[in-house]
Amino acid sequence: MDNAMENCIFCKIARGEIPAEVVWKDEHVLVFKDIHPATPKHFLAIPLEHIPTVNDADANNAAILGRLFVAAAETAKKFGFAESGYRCVVNCNRDAGQELFHLHMHIMAGKKFGWPPG
Ligand code: 5GP
Ligand code: ZN
Repeated sequence: MDNAMENCIFCKIARGEIPAEVVWKDEHVLVFKDIHPATPKHFLAIPLEHIPTVNDADANNAAILGRLFVAAAETAKKFGFAESGYRCVVNCNRDAGQELFHLHMHIMAGKKFGWPPG
């Protein structure tokens, strides 16, 4: 295993080495509660594969990245906010405020969001 995967918090969650409140999973994607929720409902969907940022997306992992949206839809139905609405956010690098370099989709709900984001 390379260093990035060894030390990555989300890889550790994917391997079961650190706990997380998992709410949904399939063979490629895991969804769990954000440890510091920024909205009343706040989940993170991660590919099990270590992909650092959106910049690393390529044709080989396109299907797995597409599954993040399937995971969001399933989570929204499961937690009852599919109809009222929710926001899916993927931060990439410094200007977007990415803190953990294992690509993840924020699934955020339970409030009315403004647009555009500040
Ligand atoms: P980013 O800023 O990289 O887009 O978002 C990282 C997110 O991961 C933050 O919302 C933060 O609260 C969450 N987070 C950081 N460490 C952990 C952890 O150990 N467990 C869980 N469940 N969420 C985490
Ligand atoms: Zn990782």
